[in-house]
Amino acid sequence: MRKYLPSIVLCIFFEFIAVLLWRIKGNSFYFLNFSYIGCSISIGSFLYIKKYKHARRVVQLLVGMYMLVYLGLICKENMQIEGFWYYLFMGAFEAATIHYVIAKIFGPLLFGRGWCGYACWTAMVLDFLPYKIPRHPRRRIGWIRYITFLGSLLFVAALFVMKVNDLETILFWAFVVGNGLYYTVGVILAFLFEDNRAFCKYICPITIFLKPMSYFALFRVECDESKCISCGKCKTVCPMDVDMTDDSRRRKNGTECILCMECVKICPKKAL
Ligand code: SF4
Ligand code: SF4
Ligand code: SF4
Repeated sequence: MRKYLPSIVLCIFFEFIAVLLWRIKGNSFYFLNFSYIGCSISIGSFLYIKKYKHARRVVQLLVGMYMLVYLGLICKENMQIEGFWYYLFMGAFEAATIHYVIAKIFGPLLFGRGWCGYACWTAMVLDFLPYKIPRHPRRRIGWIRYITFLGSLLFVAALFVMKVNDLETILFWAFVVGNGLYYTVGVILAFLFEDNRAFCKYICPITIFLKPMSYFALFRVECDESKCISCGKCKTVCPMDVDMTDDSRRRKNGTECILCMECVKICPKKAL
């Protein structure tokens, strides 16, 4: 039963959020939304425990498609970073602000960058590309993410300063165009750098929220050094260039790991 504990904890966590927001906001959408996400994640972790090799991809598709197609395109909620700035400037704790607070700002204290491994609709597509394992060492161009972060903030701030009408329509189209751009740049970079996750490593502005809290995450991969035989296999499968064998509390280990569990699966000594 102990092995199912992560699935149960995650399910309870999301159900707690679902009920809490439903009661606070008086809106059953929050109950259905977070129950669905919690169930999808629990199903994925259950499938992982059952050793189904595509467990992570199942969760990515269940959550990613729901957020991209249903919330984004059908309900016209901008769940991108621009939507977060929009609701923040409005002083409203709604849709994107709730999503960011739970998935990307405080949630990482519990599940680190699990969002990046299991729920992000950008990575959902990028992970289909052929370079699952990077073919070259990481480049020192991670500073680009600060430019995209600032760009998104200035874009929404400018809309407010200029008192533009019909902000919601503009934000819907910003969501459509922004995602188109993310996918285009993500795919080009993946082929250019031979690394599916190049966009995540260098461009994505959301990592500025995700990384600091992930450092303190409760769920993390740790190495039992008494079992490790230093075979190095775990390092050869990591999409994020993390070396879990040295010290899982190092900054890179804590803030880059997306909990994909590829290293855990390949370890011959079950040291991770
Ligand atoms: S780094 Fe950004 S694009 Fe990559 S998975 Fe995380 S949120 Fe998605
Ligand atoms: S392979 Fe291991 S260290 Fe690398 S991202 Fe996946 S879980 Fe984290
Ligand atoms: S795969 Fe396992 S045994 Fe090999 S280096 Fe990694 S943690 Fe150690």
